[in-house]
Amino acid sequence: MSDLKNTDAHEWSDLHAEIQDWLAGYADGELDEHHTALVEAHLAGCETCQQMLNVSEFFPNDCR
Ligand SMILES: [Zn+2]
Repeated sequence: MSDLKNTDAHEWSDLHAEIQDWLAGYADGELDEHHTALVEAHLAGCETCQQMLNVSEFFPNDCR
């Protein structure tokens, strides 16, 4: 069994899901400092979220 590795992966994917929720706000500069720091730290190691951020720039969120 590799419970430790599974736990690691689970925490990463949990964070990954949250980051994707915050990416739109991050692209709009609407996140607070705490969440901006979390997003930037995650982006540094996650190509998927970097690509999500690039895509979101082409589809600005105008639903206000
Ligand atoms: Zn990610």
